Amino acid sequence: MSSVLWFRRDLRLRDHPALHAAAADGPVTALFVLDPALLRPAGAARIAFLYRTLRCLDADLRRHGGRLVVRKGKPEHVVPRVARESGASAVHITADLGPYGSIRDAMVAKALRDVPLVRTGSPYAVTPGRVVKSDGTPFKVYTPFYRAWSEHGWRAPATAIGARVRWHDASDGTNGTDGTGIPADPRLPAGLDLPEPGEAAARRAWRRFRDGSLQEYADLRDRPDLDRTSHLSVYLKWGCIHPRTLLADLGPSDETFRRELAWREFYASVLHHWPDSAREYFQPKLAALPYAPPGAAFDAWRDGRTGYPVVDAGMRQLTATGWMHNRVRMIVASFLVKDLHIEWTHGARHFMRHLVDADLASNQHGWQWTAGTGTDPAPFFRIFNPVTQGRKFDPEGVYVRRWIPELRGIGGAAAHEPWRLDVPPPDYPPPIVDHAVERAEALARYRSLR
Ligand code: FAD
Repeated sequence: MSSVLWFRRDLRLRDHPALHAAAADGPVTALFVLDPALLRPAGAARIAFLYRTLRCLDADLRRHGGRLVVRKGKPEHVVPRVARESGASAVHITADLGPYGSIRDAMVAKALRDVPLVRTGSPYAVTPGRVVKSDGTPFKVYTPFYRAWSEHGWRAPATAIGARVRWHDASDGTNGTDGTGIPADPRLPAGLDLPEPGEAAARRAWRRFRDGSLQEYADLRDRPDLDRTSHLSVYLKWGCIHPRTLLADLGPSDETFRRELAWREFYASVLHHWPDSAREYFQPKLAALPYAPPGAAFDAWRDGRTGYPVVDAGMRQLTATGWMHNRVRMIVASFLVKDLHIEWTHGARHFMRHLVDADLASNQHGWQWTAGTGTDPAPFFRIFNPVTQGRKFDPEGVYVRRWIPELRGIGGAAAHEPWRLDVPPPDYPPPIVDHAVERAEALARYRSLR
């Protein structure tokens, strides 16, 4: 007996329940499929991070006598072929309950015919779909979900299995230029600063955060200038670390961080129950809101040249690193939808392309929440003022000066309103819209629906 472990969003060897299941079937062939359907919408930063993480996984496997087979193509063609070549009696996976993943896996299961596709575990502490209301219907609101999710609980991390797995050394299954089958990184924008890839880096990032900033997380997580959040989203996205590994280390005083991890679980649950909410309005009545087409204003937002420093700093951070602080994600999203009156779907698509942690559930629902069309029960009136938000969460202007060199000559919080200076910085644009005017316009458009 032997099996295939088809890696997807579980690029690690520890706390990996599907690996336990695969190892019980004899020697394991490790497979990753470069699926054009998933690579096409991803920007260079995310693809480079993925390739680098695959190289780390391959190196980890080689240390244990295996290697990663990497093949490009449609999974329903590639997976059965590799299963046949390796004589596998089963293909093991971590369940993917997202809209694309469910359909893809059903097609692969069908194409495998008499070789079973075995699902064990999921990328979440609690598999999406398990936490429902007492009447069996899904939660639409976060707080009651959080309560039910906490009561449901989760398993302890899977025990380390490392050296006990017999890996199949599928040297013949690789075809890449460096002998791994993993393509070279795509061409990256100059100066792009990507996070360190791989499972070991994820575990280091977690230990660093757990033993440091976690203590102050409740007080400082909203401060982009101090940058005290965990930066684990990219590792959670690719499964370099499992959320249960994190939850197992948390104590009663770490409630705020646990609640943030639960937002990821909540949005995955919402998307599981309403797969169309990745593209469609979660509150359908708001689909009729009048919007502007994404023209020059969208380009200014994308390029970080709106004249509102905190918005521009966020958009430039995204371009430079593939990541943006959560508070700033909310500010820039609110600005696009409520100041520029551009539909959330355009911003969500831009984020999905450029974020290294781009996750369909968290991203689309983060956007819908900010646009006032999603799961937030007190929605549309929440319009972020980019100046007061900037002054409150970046009180000394450190964050905006970090990302906008044109503002480096302005001291303190004045950097949030450069147009008020006697001599505004010559190479930084004035605001492209007047926030007070556009706020009133957004509310008028909203009222016109009723
Ligand atoms: P921390 O503050 O350290 O939080 C720890 C973990 O909790 C995160 O890694 C993440 O997994 C989870 N988490 C925290 N806040 C949220 C949240 N609001 N929603 C869902 N999960 C959360 N997160 C993504 O992982 N991928 C996305 O594509 C994404 N797009 C977003 C788009 C918008 C418009 C908004 C407002 C938020 C989005 N988020 C997304 C959520 C959040 O901004 C990021 O998870 C967070 O900034 C990642 O940084 P961190 O790991 O340092 O977070």
